[in-house]
Amino acid sequence: MTYFGAIADDLTGATDLAGLMARAGVAVSLRIGVPEDLPEHGSAIEVIALKSRTEPVQSALAETKAALRWLQAAGTQRYFWKYCSTFDSTAEGNIGPVAEMLMAEIGADQTIYCPAFPENGRSVFMGNLFVGQQPLSESPMQHHPLTPMTDSNLMRLLEPQVTRKVGLLDRLQVAQGPEVVTEGLAALEAQGVAHVIVDAVANNDLYSIAEACRHMPLLTGGSALAMALPHLYMGDGSLETSDTRRQFPATCARGVVLSGSCSAMTNRQVAEYLAQGRPCYKVDPLELAQNGPSEILDWLSRQDLDQMPLVYATARPDSVKAAQELLGVAEAGAMVEQVLATCATVARDLGARRIVVAGGETSGAVTKALGADQLDVGPEIAPGVPWCFCKSDGHQMALTLKSGNFGAAGFFSDAIKKLDSQ
Ligand code: ADP
Repeated sequence: MTYFGAIADDLTGATDLAGLMARAGVAVSLRIGVPEDLPEHGSAIEVIALKSRTEPVQSALAETKAALRWLQAAGTQRYFWKYCSTFDSTAEGNIGPVAEMLMAEIGADQTIYCPAFPENGRSVFMGNLFVGQQPLSESPMQHHPLTPMTDSNLMRLLEPQVTRKVGLLDRLQVAQGPEVVTEGLAALEAQGVAHVIVDAVANNDLYSIAEACRHMPLLTGGSALAMALPHLYMGDGSLETSDTRRQFPATCARGVVLSGSCSAMTNRQVAEYLAQGRPCYKVDPLELAQNGPSEILDWLSRQDLDQMPLVYATARPDSVKAAQELLGVAEAGAMVEQVLATCATVARDLGARRIVVAGGETSGAVTKALGADQLDVGPEIAPGVPWCFCKSDGHQMALTLKSGNFGAAGFFSDAIKKLDSQ
């Protein structure tokens, strides 16, 4: 029976949340998209990954409602709406409307918004979101191609997205502990505040917030807030401790690394892997457009999969821009995603059982090609990036899905070591 159900607005955000919750040793199941069948054996914690962050509001609402219905049918008692720790949304954004819809459906009078993720440098102070030492609107997020964040103030960002009153529970209150958080929320509720931005700059703040808010029917925020919840639910008997710890399946050591992210961190990770002398193939989108994927797939079929060869389209911003100018942004992206997804199925058919994927959109394309729509969440490689286990074409596979900026420079070899040491 499912106790806790989370709905995430993108795939790597969902794996991030699932990985942090699984730290407690609880069984966490990740579903990619809303499952077609009604739940039969829901895990104690279910996370549904949507792809709704930049969708029009109406379709984001419809998709989220379908996810909610599935979680309700699984018996869920506590709900979580997960968005990015940089509060990514457009002015007509989906964070507020989805939260209001969920509140109405679940019957919640008040909810909190806490995107802080101190381990990854995201903090909220006096309602303002910081990325490292920079306010959100001065961080690289101001230039994001789809959701440029040009205001750091969460109240100002949320207000136009909701119909009910927005308020702030600030750090001076949060730092005094869970009782003060509870009192602060009650005081705001008495003033008619339905949407409460909650400050957090350190993990201790998140623990206080989680302790005070764990029995709210709906919480919203980033993955770090959710991380604190399983221990609390186990402590008060809401989640069983005895039968929830899991052994993970062994997978043979053959595999591939597929990288379609062009983030600064992924560029470093690819460079570090190249420096180790691993077999690597660089996908050039212009050549791919001209000659098709056969050369890449031939190369892959000649590789020793024990070496975990890397196929990457990861490139610096100037060459990404050059490819986009010639091919179109969406076309270049889709073509690269497609070839990496094909590499995943070809590698699987050649015996690969471990696949490391870098890039959110790339991860979506790869999991779709592998037909992996349910993943069991396993050990964490880096904060918010776990190994996951699934079946693909009858084979037991291990997959890890890393969004652009996550993981350290040695992430690809860290991932391999993590499974080897299990
Ligand atoms: P991230 O998590 O870093 O945002 P994504 O996989 O979500 O990574 O997005 C990266 C996008 O860039 C994908 O659509 C991918 O296909 C595309 N892409 C990757 N390499 C290139 C390249 N060399 N030129 C143009 N587009 C690329």
